[in-house]
Amino acid sequence: MNTVEIKAYGAKSNDADLKPLDINRREVLAGDVKIDILYCGVCHSDIHQVRNDWGNSKYPVVPGHEIIGRVLETGTDVSKFKEGDLVGVGCLVDSCQECSSCKEGLEQYCENGMVGTYNGKDKHLGGHTFGGYSESVVVREEFVLKVPENIDAKAAAPLLCAGITTWSPLRHWNVKKGDKVGVIGLGGLGHMGVKFANALGAKVVMITTSKNKSEDAKRLGADEVLISKDQEQMKEHANSFDFLLNTVPVKHDLNPYINLLKRDATMVLVGAIEPLEEMHGGLLIGKRRSVAGSVIGGIKETQEMLDFCGEHNVVSDIEMINMQDINEAFERVTKSDVKYRFVIDMKSLKN
Ligand SMILES: [Zn+2]
Ligand SMILES: [Zn+2]
Repeated sequence: MNTVEIKAYGAKSNDADLKPLDINRREVLAGDVKIDILYCGVCHSDIHQVRNDWGNSKYPVVPGHEIIGRVLETGTDVSKFKEGDLVGVGCLVDSCQECSSCKEGLEQYCENGMVGTYNGKDKHLGGHTFGGYSESVVVREEFVLKVPENIDAKAAAPLLCAGITTWSPLRHWNVKKGDKVGVIGLGGLGHMGVKFANALGAKVVMITTSKNKSEDAKRLGADEVLISKDQEQMKEHANSFDFLLNTVPVKHDLNPYINLLKRDATMVLVGAIEPLEEMHGGLLIGKRRSVAGSVIGGIKETQEMLDFCGEHNVVSDIEMINMQDINEAFERVTKSDVKYRFVIDMKSLKN
């Protein structure tokens, strides 16, 4: 198969900085869309993959799965897109399209393994896929999303991962107007959880360990802030939440949060992909509560989210960087020193 060499940024080992490198993209096949990348968000997963924190990284790692760009070229069978369209690519670039999950539009749970935008198995060129820290990408039409032209394209980039990761559980558990929703943790995911829950009409409570995040939480759409270290406050809010979105990215004690749920209510984990501290069965059994997990979202659902964002003018709070600043940005993400997502201006790579 013919390939085209393009510029990218990647890491050659788990302790290496990201540096310029050249990668190959496949030629545009009949069902493919070639996208000129304008912006790419910096997700915490990018750092985990570069550092091999999950033990499955393949090098070089070219991260990036919050891609916004314009269509450069389309294959002969492509019907949904044309040159110049504003489009997005999230965490997935392929799946089997045949299993029960794929048929239900839940490609992220593909029984035969979804193909990640980077570090996934490249079905065309062999080896592994390369992400959005690059000039362009070639993706099959089914995995390309339409981005509304009326929203700020740079600030839309994080919708493709941080956005859908919080949107999907809010929709799946049917959060609606008037529900009391708690968002635990105010980072890249949490800030989108607050914005979406607010836009869906819920009464939103930001649940955080640090008081100094209160003002920002309210600016983002929280009606109230609950300091989780304050026992009195936690007692006042016990048994009162219809839904909890837990975005804490590391191992932590779930029990104090479970106790906030009403009878039959659910807390969904979207952050911590690792062993957790022990849960007390009594807290679940006594009130028929649930603790669940959720990963990103399917393509149909992602499109619905983007359309909703167009209608309600919801985007992420971002800080723009040049590609050359990426290593410093990684350091700052690790220290939670960003409000609330870095987005790379891909012009800086092309010049
Ligand atoms: Zn991500
Ligand atoms: Zn499948």
